[in-house]
Amino acid sequence: MNEEQLEYFKKILEGQLKKLLVQSGHMVSELVSQNSHEIEYLDQVSVHTDHVMKLRIKSRESYLIKKIVNALERVEAKTFGICEVCEEEIAFRRLVARPVATKCIFCKTKEELFERLVG
Ligand SMILES: [Zn+2]
Repeated sequence: MNEEQLEYFKKILEGQLKKLLVQSGHMVSELVSQNSHEIEYLDQVSVHTDHVMKLRIKSRESYLIKKIVNALERVEAKTFGICEVCEEEIAFRRLVARPVATKCIFCKTKEELFERLVG
């Protein structure tokens, strides 16, 4: 993946992160307290730091936030778009549809099949 493509996904991911944080009513200090990278990203997001609320993000939302932050970290590390299982590049179209994807469609399908078989 080239710089331009990485930049493209970075913008998408940051946009999604921002939206999620605003929706979930901020303050994500607990979520990010152990990770300076995440704090860095959150600094760019307009949250009411003066109004520190207890983390009230639903687990589904915090799960998504973590996934997005992880994807942003992969963008920084330039490993974004590489399947974590087979290390092949994930199809561009798949990433556009699902920027937080960490597996290529083959590995993902295999995984789902396996899960269905095991139960
Ligand atoms: Zn794969």
